[in-house]
Amino acid sequence: MASVEWSGDLDAKDTPDASLTPAQLATLELIRLPNEERVTHPSTLRAQIELELEKETVDLVDLLEEPLWVSKRQLHAVNSCEALYEAQEEEPFEWRVPMTRGQIFHKCVELSIHLSPKRTASELVDEALKSIMNRGDGLAKFLLGLSDVERAEIRSEVASLLQTFFDTFPPLKRGWQPTTETPRKVSLHRGMIVLQGRFDVTVGRPEELTAGRVIIELKTGRSVPHHLDDLRFYALLETLVVGVPPALLASFYVDAGRVQVETVDEDLIRAAIRRTTQSIQRLIELRLGQTQAERRPSGACKWCPVAGSCGPGQSWLEETETRGAW
Ligand code: SF4
Repeated sequence: MASVEWSGDLDAKDTPDASLTPAQLATLELIRLPNEERVTHPSTLRAQIELELEKETVDLVDLLEEPLWVSKRQLHAVNSCEALYEAQEEEPFEWRVPMTRGQIFHKCVELSIHLSPKRTASELVDEALKSIMNRGDGLAKFLLGLSDVERAEIRSEVASLLQTFFDTFPPLKRGWQPTTETPRKVSLHRGMIVLQGRFDVTVGRPEELTAGRVIIELKTGRSVPHHLDDLRFYALLETLVVGVPPALLASFYVDAGRVQVETVDEDLIRAAIRRTTQSIQRLIELRLGQTQAERRPSGACKWCPVAGSCGPGQSWLEETETRGAW
């Protein structure tokens, strides 16, 4: 198998591996940004962004008694239905079978990159399940509590998904410097606000001040608009930790074998700073009880735990039902 070095150029001298499927080739072309399109950023960018984030939140942070942890989940929640967010914060977290699929899948991808010799999809699922069930955490206990049939069904679903991934995503070569489950954490106001995330997969790396890393999120569900915002937040985290923004952001939808990409530029970073600061302000106001949680009906009303007592949610559900009659 001919090797493909991680270079942005896709010209004749860098002909991709002929053994790749059309879907793998299409993905590869989309997640490689030509060198001449890569942006070189100022060395002061990291300090500027940190200063801006702290300046925009300084008035509220002194009122906090406990640190505020902010991940893509909190940012999405506060930008959709705030009342649902508050209800979920009060509910104890519980694992459910559909949630395990993504967790095991991500573990399989991680092992597929780092385990040698290469394993088949089913072997990887077995390795991943064994590793997770030995961890002793909440997911391990949940999986151990399932019946053999339930575990076999999960194994079968994840193995199919993984095979689709292998057929549609180019094999990650060592020369691309791939990483999996990369944590990023940024502490503001001496730890009173902590921004955090974990990137599913990255390939490439920056060269001095020139962007080169691609952050890839692997999605086992359908495409929704907030996936873009999640990745833009990750671009911000990457910039605050490394000092250079990523070159590209990509969401890979495993079921469909398709990737959606976005190039990172100054406007994108500015939009991420704006959304993050506005959301932090809102999260603090909600925590301090300085504001009422807004109710914003959407498809989430169908499974919302407080839908029974929510007027706007009930109206939305009735309207949807009426429309659905036709
Ligand atoms: S029912 Fe809908 S609008 Fe009401 S709290 Fe739940 S998600 Fe929000």
